[in-house]
Amino acid sequence: MKPCRIAILGSTGSIGLNTLKVVDQNPGRFRVVALTAYNNFELLEGQIKKYKPSHVAVGPEGLDHFKSSGIKGVKFYPVVDCAEIASLKEVDTVVLAMSGTGALMPFLAAVRAGKTVAPANKEALVIAGDLIMKEARKHQARIIPIDSEQSAIFQCLEGQRSKPVSVHLTASGGPLREVPSKDFKRMTPRDILRHPRWKMGPKITVDSATLMNKGFEVIEAKHLFNLGCDQIKVLVHPEAIIHSMVEFADGSLLAQLGVTDMRLPIQYALTYPDRLPTGLKDLDLAQLGSLNFEKPDLKRFPSLELAFEAGRLAGTMPAVLNAADEEVVEAFLKGKIGFLSIYKVVEKVFLRHRIVKNPSLKEILEADQWAREEAKKIMEPRLRC
Ligand code: MG
Repeated sequence: MKPCRIAILGSTGSIGLNTLKVVDQNPGRFRVVALTAYNNFELLEGQIKKYKPSHVAVGPEGLDHFKSSGIKGVKFYPVVDCAEIASLKEVDTVVLAMSGTGALMPFLAAVRAGKTVAPANKEALVIAGDLIMKEARKHQARIIPIDSEQSAIFQCLEGQRSKPVSVHLTASGGPLREVPSKDFKRMTPRDILRHPRWKMGPKITVDSATLMNKGFEVIEAKHLFNLGCDQIKVLVHPEAIIHSMVEFADGSLLAQLGVTDMRLPIQYALTYPDRLPTGLKDLDLAQLGSLNFEKPDLKRFPSLELAFEAGRLAGTMPAVLNAADEEVVEAFLKGKIGFLSIYKVVEKVFLRHRIVKNPSLKEILEADQWAREEAKKIMEPRLRC
């Protein structure tokens, strides 16, 4: 079998590093053709020496560094050219391991080039899911999600002739699940960043504290599996062992269970439709003893409902939600606003937005820009005091 040629966009982040572990776990199965990273170019240099990619994109500082590094046989690109890397003819599968809206253009380029795309990134599908799915259908590009919940749904739907009546997205409940509501206003970034189940970057950890992360996954699932928002249910499951479930007309629920390690969904996406050993420890249900479930508390976590509403309204609203959230969470992480202001500011931007239905890419990017400026304006008086 010829090795699968992969490009990893965002190779120095946690998904990128786990993807390379999957490559190591399966010698001969993959060839790393391209790597990209924004600023961790020392780590990237080690990856270049080990995996010998022929194409590498890196941020401005890294570009200067590699010019004088004497590395041979590699074509270097500025990181803004990730879309070019995602559509290289020598690439079969593109792993979108980078976070943020910067993944949108490479995602579109990859599906237009008919690649298999394995997205861990949420933002691109949240803001431009209709466009991406339309282009993917047109160019017969396959999308196999890496996000654990979406991977679980994808796996549960494999081989089914019937469409599901609903999907149940599980949520660990985030770092504030057991914190009383009265203490929310005192939560600092440090309190939030002690996340119980998954080790993730700071932005996504704050989003999992507000449950906005789950809200984005609702919008993502809507696009990936062609569902209505009312067919998507969120279920808090603190052990994070069931990664999501699918419900059929006869009332049967199919679930995917596994240890909480991203290498499992990453490897599944990369070796699909094969299943191979991961080297991870087995899931020991007897040792766990029990699994727990509860409904999400929308009063405590109103961001989740806001995301459902954005998904229902569609058009440019999800892009506005995403952009406002990105600005506001960044301000929170810098200590400029309090935890409760995250929701308040995002909701204000949401209410002020005039939706454009069936937006073009340009209209989506304009809405994104508008929402960022609006969020900053709303936060301005707070920044001064
Ligand atoms: Mg997830």
